[in-house]
Formats: sequence, structure tokens, C-alpha cells
Amino acid sequence: MIKHNWKRSEILKIYHKPLMELMYEAATVHRKYHDPNTVQVSTLLSIKTGGCPEDCGYCPQAARYHTDIEKNDLMSVSHVKAQAKRAKASGSSRLCMGAAWRNVKDGDDFERVLDMVRTVNEMDMEVCCTLGMVTENQAKRLAEAGLYAYNHNLDSSEEYYKKVISTRGYQDRLDTINNVRESNVTVCSGGIIGMGESIEDRADMLIALSTLNPQPESTPINALVPVEGTPLDEQKPVEIWEMVRMIATTRIVMPKTQVRLSAGRTQMSQEGQAMCFFVGANSIFAGDKLLTTPNPDVSEDMKLFEALGLKPQKAFEKGDKPISKLKEEAEFKPLGEKPKWSRPGHKIERNEQAKKTKKKAKI
Ligand code: SF4
Repeated sequence: MIKHNWKRSEILKIYHKPLMELMYEAATVHRKYHDPNTVQVSTLLSIKTGGCPEDCGYCPQAARYHTDIEKNDLMSVSHVKAQAKRAKASGSSRLCMGAAWRNVKDGDDFERVLDMVRTVNEMDMEVCCTLGMVTENQAKRLAEAGLYAYNHNLDSSEEYYKKVISTRGYQDRLDTINNVRESNVTVCSGGIIGMGESIEDRADMLIALSTLNPQPESTPINALVPVEGTPLDEQKPVEIWEMVRMIATTRIVMPKTQVRLSAGRTQMSQEGQAMCFFVGANSIFAGDKLLTTPNPDVSEDMKLFEALGLKPQKAFEKGDKPISKLKEEAEFKPLGEKPKWSRPGHKIERNEQAKKTKKKAKI
């Protein structure tokens, strides 16, 4: 039975167990609900990069941090199709398309994204989008186009979230997830560790995710990749033991969810990744880039799969393929809504001091 009323003390007790016991318990839960030798492989494609008005302290795509990423306007549908073909040929069953937007706005760009969703769904790949905040009507339009999953991360606990992002509230995140739940699209939501949060914050994030009913179908657990110019660029790297504990605890608290080993894999050894798979990670992002941060090469991943005897999960193994409706057949039309997403005052500033120190060190 899935438990939706986890308490912080219960989660902390799990997280702090002696590691061997924790690993054994998580692996046992994992085997009960999943095939331990199957791992879902997704490719993350940035369809619109940089210039984002939000101030997420970890993100090089936020316009205000002046990082070195190359900005790009919204991709064409044919470009997305070519990238999807490549991803499928290299073993990915899902394409996750990310746009650096605060929220989805009805209009030409959204119509183009809907066409991308129809196109990739017709290629028999699971399609996921991460486009910022969405209304219920927009989520239903994505569902009609054939979207399989929508990603919207909670990032951290409600308390710590305010220290990392100030241009929108935690409730906006939860409202977007609820809007997605009103459609047939599955929910992908997780967070990031290594942003300076406490273990209690990690537990509270897991409470927020696990009290959702149903719990998210997938949960990415990211390790912060500090990027120069962002406010979090001086954070210490996450230790492998923290990652193993976090994945194992997530697996126990959300037994049916696909737990995704996401950003930060380049810093992990193959043995470290194997431990994460053992304790319940059963999804990865493939491709040499995760939106803008580095990720292991696809062929490296396939070598690791071979060494560990893992096989990639087939598309639609855990849910039916959506039927894409054409624009003309769609029941849900653009409403031109002006949703009332919160806009708290911006407070998170880029790390000027760190930038200066690094510049000096380079001279
Ligand atoms: S994480 Fe998303 S919303 Fe936040 S700054 Fe980056 S692109 Fe924008």
C-alpha cells in the first residue's frame, strides 16, 4: 500500500539508517515494485534556451546571472523531429523538451510546442515537456496533442525554496502539478540536493512529493552542478553517500515512482551510479547535455548498462500511448487566460564576489 502521510521524523529515521541496512531495505522495496534490471532512458532537449525571467539560483538560463550559455529561440518542429530520431536510435524511449519560460502563454509558440508533441508521439516515443507553469486548460491541450508526462520540480522544501528562488512561490509549483493532474498527463516532479539545504529540507521535499495523491509517476533527483555566475556557484559537490541515501529514501517513500538519476551524473563514478541503481534509481537522462549542463556520453551509458546487465525500458511499458488529436479536432481551445501566478519580489542575486575572485585567479 502506498503511504501518503509520511512524517519528517519517519523519513529522517530512514535516511540516517546504517548505509548497508538502508541499501538492503531500499533494494527490497525496489524489487517488489519494479524489474531491477530495467532502466528507463530519456533524452532531454532544450527547445528554447536562456533568457529566462526567473531567478532560480542554480540555473545558468536565468537572464540575470549573465552566464556563458548560448541563447536560442524556440526550435523548429523539423529540428525537434531530427533530434528525436537521434535520441530514439541511441536507445531513448522518452524525449523531454525543456523551454526556459516562466509559464506557458497561449499563442504561436505554444501552438508550435503542441505540434512538436504530436510529431514525437507519432514516432512512438514518450513525450515529456517542462515549460514552466501551466493552467489546467493548457495541460489539457498538451494531453490532447499526445503528451505523456509533464515535468515541474518542487526543487526543495517549501522553506528552503524561498532561499533559492524568489520570483514565484511554492504554491505555484503545486498548483501547476494539480493542473497537470486534471489532464491524462503523468506527473514528473523532484528536486535538487547540494544547494546548501539541510537533511530536514530534503525530508520535507519528500513529504511534499509523497503526499501528492497519486504520487508522481517519476521523480528526478538532481545533484547540483554549480555554474559560474549563478548564486550557487560555490556550493560543495554532493558526496556519493548523500546521493545514495537520497535515492534510497525516495525509493522507500515513493515505491511505485520511477526515480531518475539526473544532473550531477558526470561527477559520479560508475560504481557510484551502480549503487544508485541498486537502491532504486530506475531512470536516467542520456545525451551529452542536460539542457545546459554536462552529462555522460550515450555510449558510456550503454557500456555501463552492458557491464551491469541492465536493459533500457521500452516506450509505453508503464502506461498507454496517448492518442494525438489534430489541432482541428481539439476539444480544448486557447483561452488567452491571464493566470494569477504569484510574483514575489526578486531577491536572489548573482554571486559577484565569486565571479571577481575567479577572474583574479585566472589572470
Ligand atoms: S530553472 Fe527554469 S524557470 Fe528557473 S531560471 Fe532556469 S529556465 Fe528559468
